[in-house]
This record gives sequence, C-alpha cells and structure tokens, in this order.
Amino acid sequence: MYRELKYATNYIWNNQLLALSIRTGKCLVKPCQIYVLWTGICNFSCPMCKVQEWKEKLPYDVVIDLIDQLSEWGVPRFTIAGGEPLLFRDEFLRILAHANRKGLLTHFSTNGTNFDRKFLQEYSRVGGGQVTVSLDGCTKKTHDRMRNYDGAFEIALNAVETYKESKPRNVTLKVQPVLTNENLGEMEGVFEIARESGALFSIQAYDPMDFAVLKKEVPLQEIRKKHPLWVSEENFPLLKESIESILKLRKTHPGIVLNTPEHLRDMILYFERRLSFEGRCLVGYTSLFILPDGHSTMCLYGDIGSIKEQPIRELWHSEKLERIRKQMLECDRPCLNGCAQRHTTGKILSEGFNYLRRRLRG
Ligand code: SF4
Ligand code: SF4
Repeated sequence: MYRELKYATNYIWNNQLLALSIRTGKCLVKPCQIYVLWTGICNFSCPMCKVQEWKEKLPYDVVIDLIDQLSEWGVPRFTIAGGEPLLFRDEFLRILAHANRKGLLTHFSTNGTNFDRKFLQEYSRVGGGQVTVSLDGCTKKTHDRMRNYDGAFEIALNAVETYKESKPRNVTLKVQPVLTNENLGEMEGVFEIARESGALFSIQAYDPMDFAVLKKEVPLQEIRKKHPLWVSEENFPLLKESIESILKLRKTHPGIVLNTPEHLRDMILYFERRLSFEGRCLVGYTSLFILPDGHSTMCLYGDIGSIKEQPIRELWHSEKLERIRKQMLECDRPCLNGCAQRHTTGKILSEGFNYLRRRLRG
C-alpha cells in the first residue's frame, strides 16, 4: 500500500513541476516509472510485437544495479515488460524480490506462461505488486491467432484462474487486450473474464509504430495491406459498438475499466484516422524505456545512451534527452501511447479511492 501511495504522490508532484520544466527547458522532475524490456526472448511470436528482434536478456547484475540506482533516486515504479519474463522464472523472482525490498512498486507484463500457483505465492511472499496478463479475445480461436501460438488462450486463462483462486492481497492483476481488426467483437467477453476473476481491465489500441500511417501519408485503404491488424473501414461500426459497450460496462461496474472514457472514445477516432493530437506529449517527463541490450530510448526517437555505460540519472538529465523532450512536445502524431492518457490529480485521487475500496473488500 505504501508503495502505491508513493507512486501516486510522485505522479501528482510530477504534474505540478511539469509546467515549470517545460517553461525553463530543464527537466525538474524524476521519472514516475522505468520500463525495462528485460529480454526479447519469448515463446510466442505475436505479429504486433517489436521486442522480439532482440535475442538477448539484460544481465542480472545490470538489472540489480539499475534497481539500486532507482531506489536511491526515489523513482517509485519499476516495470518489466516483454519478451516473456516468466521464461526465466527464478531469476525474475529474485529481481522482483530485490525491487520490492528496495521500495519500488513492481509491475510486469506476461502472456501467462509459468504464472502458476507456486509463482503467485512466491511473488506475494516477496512483496507482490502489479501484473498485466495479455488476453486479446474471449475465444481460443481469436487469442491463439492474435498471438500466433496454439494454446496461448489456455495459458492466459490459466494465469487468470490462478489469480482468481488465491487473489493475494498484495498482488493486483490487470487483463489487457490489444484492440485490432481481429477482435473487435470480443472486448465485452474479455472484460467478463477479468471481472469474474477480480482483475482490472484495460484496452490498448493496436499501434503499428509507424508515423506514416497515422499522419495519413498512406491512404486508408492501403493501411490494411501493410498493417493487417489495423481496423478496416467496413468494421468501423463494430469498433464503435465495441467501445460503447465498454463505456457502459465502465459505468455499471465502476473501478474495473482503467481507460478513461476520453481515451476509449479516442480509439474510435484513432482507427478512423480522425484523431488530432492537440495537447503536448509529456511522456518524456514521466518515463524512460530500457531495451534488452541496455540502451535507453523514448518513443521512436532512437538511442539515448546505455545504462551499462552511464548512471540512469545522467541519461535522464542528458542534453540528448532534453532535445528529444522538446521534439516530443511538438509531436502531432495522434497516438494513444500514454500521452493522451496523462492523468489529472483528480483522476489519481479517484483511482486511489477505488483501489482502497477494492483492498478493503478483499
Ligand atoms: S507475448 Fe508479448 S513479448 Fe511475446 S511475442 Fe507476444 S507481444 Fe511479444
Ligand atoms: S505523442 Fe508522444 S508517445 Fe505518441 S508518438 Fe508522439 S512523442 Fe511518441
């Protein structure tokens, strides 16, 4: 609980100092979280995954040193994302245990592999945290196809079932589908799976990470040829229906759907390519991504430097990153990768309230 509070406080404080950072052109905040793409190795080969090009894993000692640096710096949240971290379960548990001991709020994403009762008990024993399980459909056919793996659905479902059976008080589970042309009709079904197991739910919109597509340099009808998962024009009514059903569920089952209503509605405009991004992208002031080879990066702006060669704090305050932040502030790409998801202080407080309510209910 203390770590969640620390994260929320840091986020609110970060919100306050952002304007000053932008005005002075000097980053006065520390990141709210660090995303470590620990490895590119995975047993699945999802067509939308970009991390698989790295066939390596960040060495244990480098990760432990990074955790120590983050703890000393006071960065509150530490996320490990794919490849599949649970393919290296014992080493991964030691990393999570260390991060928890150092006071970081741990979070990781998994496709469900090896997420069994023994692992969950161990994770809870070493302090717990937050877990995201990817589930792209409520049927085997859809999820297996989306994940390009026969048996992916059972694996994800088993993970969710495992959580449902024991639901440790210090572990929060979120079920997250990537919304694409292939699973528009199954969002409600995935929501139900999450709800029944006491998990949270949030939708991530498919992102081809391709500026040309979203900046409308490619004609709409051409997109599907290049990116088959992009929602096709004939499916726009189904897209709308699907989002509206989640908006309703958000009202009838408060506290489960994490996307804001605005974010959900933006997904319709996004796929129809009518979304314009008029805000300022603040991601550069909140997060930093570490790749499996140790290099750090921000969105699509290339290498900032390696944590194997420089302390993370130095990278965060480097001139290179400061230049990238300026570019990011000017970005007009209508993406939904967090920039549009910036939460206000009110939203943080209401999320905190919902969280407490869930914890008290058990
Ligand atoms: S399960 Fe995750 S890490 Fe593995 S291939 Fe799919 S998206 Fe990539
Ligand atoms: S809005 Fe931000 S996160 Fe999105 S593409 Fe632009 S710089 Fe990247």
